[in-house]
Amino acid sequence: MGQIIDGKLQAQKYKERIIQFINDRIKNGLRVPCMVSLMVGNDGGSKFYLDNQRKVCEKLGIKFESITMNEETTESEIVEVITKLNVDNNVDGIMLQLPLPKHINEKNVTSSINSEKDIDSLTYENTGKFYRGEKAFVPCTPKGIIELIKSTGINISGKNAVVIGRSNIVGKPVFQLLLNENATVTVCHSKTENLEEVCASADILVSAIGKPHFVNKNFVKKGAIVIDVGTTVVDGKLKGDVDFNDVIDKAAFVTPVPGGVGSMTTTMLALNVCEALK
Ligand code: NAP
Repeated sequence: MGQIIDGKLQAQKYKERIIQFINDRIKNGLRVPCMVSLMVGNDGGSKFYLDNQRKVCEKLGIKFESITMNEETTESEIVEVITKLNVDNNVDGIMLQLPLPKHINEKNVTSSINSEKDIDSLTYENTGKFYRGEKAFVPCTPKGIIELIKSTGINISGKNAVVIGRSNIVGKPVFQLLLNENATVTVCHSKTENLEEVCASADILVSAIGKPHFVNKNFVKKGAIVIDVGTTVVDGKLKGDVDFNDVIDKAAFVTPVPGGVGSMTTTMLALNVCEALK
């Protein structure tokens, strides 16, 4: 039987480091990190994520402020708020909740964030640096995924990794991070032929498609690490892309949903705020 990768337990290790960093700053008379989360409109997922950011930041001792703007807000009003935060020396990190309302051009708004405060790596500058292998903020969910894979103790270098999903926020950055760790990486998507067969060759399988229980044991190589990024609400319950009970006997390690990747994301964001202050 495979082992469960406990996202909450792994996140706790990073939380302890963050608390230590903040306590040291307080001891030295320095200010604590400050993050501002900006939400436009009423997206339920964004609200849930924002509340979670507040809880985690408060527990860790990070100063947290939220700004909520209504659905009808114009692009220039959002940019104006971001511009003020950009020059506020007491703000270290700006987190813009996505999606934005449909009438707003997401690219224009994300581009207005000061790249040194861009803790979820949304700006072109951070994205460019990230894919060129230069020092940049690493997007939080992908950062957490790599840490979970590393937590198994298995060396990523040289392994066959398959990522299902090619979005800018998960699939592509996970591909890049696995490549940085010297894995041989294949990225699959909705047009991939023989998907099951490709996945079954993976030592490390990451699924980020948003299709509940799509990945069963036929997709999994014996002894593989399986990372489930998917989160879909079905009948009020959060479901992953992976049929956990079906794959657990075949895989060596599997992340549960909930309690896996999602548990790491906000902690990685908190880590990035501390990096921004440093
Ligand atoms: P997305 O932008 O909708 O992208 C989904 C990707 O999956 C696309 O590349 C799509 O292919 C591919 N895909 C869809 N159906 C497929 C199929 N049947 N076979 C193969 N590939 C298929 O989604 P996302 O933003 O990356 O998010 C993916 C999932 O992760 C969602 O459930 C989301 O809620 C979850 N998520 C969780 C966290 C967390 O912290 N836990 C964070 C972010 C996202 P095409 O490109 O060909 O369309």
